[in-house]
Amino acid sequence: MINGTLRYCNHIRCINGINHVIGINKELVESLATFVCSRNYSKDKGSCCEDVAQTYGKKLEPWPKPDPPPPAWRSQCPYEPQPPNYDPYKIKVPDVVCPPLPPSNVKPMLECARTKGPCSLKPVPDPPPCPPPPPPPFPWIYVWALLSFFGLMGTIYQLFLWKEYRDKIHSAIQKWRPRRKVKRPFHSDDLPACVQYLIIGTGAAGWAAYRAIMEHDKKAKVFFITKEDCLPYNRMPMSKHMWWNPAPPDMMTLNYIENWKRKTMYVAECKTFVDPITFYRKTSGPAASIASGWCVLRVDADDHVAWVKTICGEQPVYYERCLIAVGAKAKNLEIFKSAPKFVRERVQVMRSIRDLELAYRRVKAARHVVILGGGFLGSELAWYLARMSKEGEHIQHAEEEEPVQLVQVVKDKGILAGVVPEYLAEWATEKIKCEGVTVIPKTQVYDAFESPDGRLQLTLSNGSSIITDYVLVAVGTEPREELAEPSYLELDRVNGGFLVNTELEARTHLYVAGDAASIYSQWKDTRLRMEHYGNAEEQGYIAGANMTGYWIPCNMEPHFKFRLGDSLDVEGVGEVGACMPTVALFKPCGEDSKPQVPEGQEKTGEDMPCFKKADEYKSRYKRGMLFYLRDETVVGMVFWNIPPVDDRYEAATEVLRARPSYKDINIIAGLFGFPETQCDYLSEAEKVDPAPCIQNWRFP
Ligand SMILES: Cc1cc2nc3c(=O)[nH]c(=O)nc-3n(C[C@H](O)[C@H](O)[C@H](O)COP(=O)(O)OP(=O)(O)OC[C@H]3O[C@@H](n4cnc5c(N)ncnc54)[C@H](O)[C@@H]3O)c2cc1C
Repeated sequence: MINGTLRYCNHIRCINGINHVIGINKELVESLATFVCSRNYSKDKGSCCEDVAQTYGKKLEPWPKPDPPPPAWRSQCPYEPQPPNYDPYKIKVPDVVCPPLPPSNVKPMLECARTKGPCSLKPVPDPPPCPPPPPPPFPWIYVWALLSFFGLMGTIYQLFLWKEYRDKIHSAIQKWRPRRKVKRPFHSDDLPACVQYLIIGTGAAGWAAYRAIMEHDKKAKVFFITKEDCLPYNRMPMSKHMWWNPAPPDMMTLNYIENWKRKTMYVAECKTFVDPITFYRKTSGPAASIASGWCVLRVDADDHVAWVKTICGEQPVYYERCLIAVGAKAKNLEIFKSAPKFVRERVQVMRSIRDLELAYRRVKAARHVVILGGGFLGSELAWYLARMSKEGEHIQHAEEEEPVQLVQVVKDKGILAGVVPEYLAEWATEKIKCEGVTVIPKTQVYDAFESPDGRLQLTLSNGSSIITDYVLVAVGTEPREELAEPSYLELDRVNGGFLVNTELEARTHLYVAGDAASIYSQWKDTRLRMEHYGNAEEQGYIAGANMTGYWIPCNMEPHFKFRLGDSLDVEGVGEVGACMPTVALFKPCGEDSKPQVPEGQEKTGEDMPCFKKADEYKSRYKRGMLFYLRDETVVGMVFWNIPPVDDRYEAATEVLRARPSYKDINIIAGLFGFPETQCDYLSEAEKVDPAPCIQNWRFP
């Protein structure tokens, strides 16, 4: 047996064969075998483990490479154009070419071992023992499910807590936003292209005109266009009984309670109106329809067209007869108009139902409210708010809350100072004070800003300042004249408003009525513009009748009514003004003049310590009549706390038309029952005679 380190099987076979044939010594055999086998190397490879030369198919390169020739000396460099960024001093790195790796024999050998058995001298190692099976995985799914369950439960509990907290906050602070203005009809295409009677504005004048048209033209088709997004309503309760409602105004009903009766501010019902498309398709009347939330931009009297503002511009509505009854808008002080948002949010004028909706919530939530203005509106607001505060006082005390404090800032000496003489204005102011209102006379507001404690601070003209929560501004109104210029209608530069003739016509078939009209009174030979509900209604009625073909002149007298509950009742007819000379008659009312109250019944009348000189001053101007003079002629009258009688306004108008002299004052006073006026009137309950005692009638 020949032992050696030769690896290849050819060698082994070759050496084994020689070993069999020749029995010579080991060294000789080895050298011989080497010689023989080296010669037969390429010829007899067999089918197994073919040898592959490492350099097979490759080009051999000498290694290490000889050094490259030294670079040429710089001065000897040929002047040839060099490539960009050529760096002659760059260190040259010799290009090292690695010889390719010899091909591996592992794969053929393994293949050989697989098919032909082990052909290598090295034994194939045993495969490693199998690893032990891995332990079963930790049941994370159960942990995850448990955590998810508790997480879900926690989230639900948190949501529950959050809802409870939110409900609590909501019940404490009512977050209210003003409702969005809704247009009806929604699309401008639904507006009728042409109408018979067009009324712009649904106030007192507009609604009265509708009634007159329907009365005089049974086949009339009337179409309303109004800026406000609601049905026609009466504005008067907004400064009065609406404040006594326990809840904010409900737009569905606009209800309020007066004299223990439920009433509504709406003057029209929904069923009065058909929708504009049905209205347009109707060939004959009677029919009425309304476009609420739409604004008329101008009226072209030449072509009988009213242009309505739409999203894309204007849309025409042709008319046969048109009434402009756009009324007046509330004035505001310049300091509030240009004030920052904080101030503007706490200041409110009072003209539309939207104003009331905004103010109601803020006033009810306030601890201190300032009312600016001592006219009809300001005084009514102060008095009714004070009564509201008094009524709710016991409830507020129960909740340990302070009642709302009311302050009225008046620029004159007292309330109604533009209508009645100063002494009477002062006296009437006491009526407001008696209700707990602090009246600051002869004062104006100069500035408004946020106070350090986040409330509203007003700087007054008397040098003091007030910190308040809310301000109601009632400093007068001005007529809405925006339509005049684009419609080429003439304005009254003195009184304001559209100039109209006595028939309330501004142009042919175009009428103006209400607060916005400056009418020519042929009796007085002057222009009048009135801002009272009764006058607006009357003008509207006359305008409506004239639209149907009548030519009724509007020769009315200005007429107003002002009432502070049971404290003060004032009615004025004709021209009245504080600067005019007046003659006044007052009933002497003292303790002696009081009627005898039947025994057993309580005396009426409250103790009013607010009056300056107690009882004497309190009853000095209790009941009376004022006569306003112009050139010794009576041109106006005020009934001061005189109990109302039927048709007093009509009777007073007739009297004034006769142009009575100041010498006739006593006769006029007699006509209106002044001499019979009593200082105190018994209430209905007091007037009832006590029933005869019939209990023991059989046994007298
Ligand atoms: C709170 C308050 C209390 C009052 N209390 C009394 C009182 O006790 N006694 C009294 O005599 N008077 C009172 N008045 C005044 C009285 O209400 C008015 O004199 C009367 O309403 C005027 O009626 P009007 O039709 O002329 O105008 P408004 O009633 O003002 O109606 C005007 C209408 O025109 C619409 N309009 C305006 N411009 C346009 C436009 N460009 N396009 C379409 N529509 C338009 C408005 O939307 C509105 O519907 C009070 C007023 C207010 C605000």
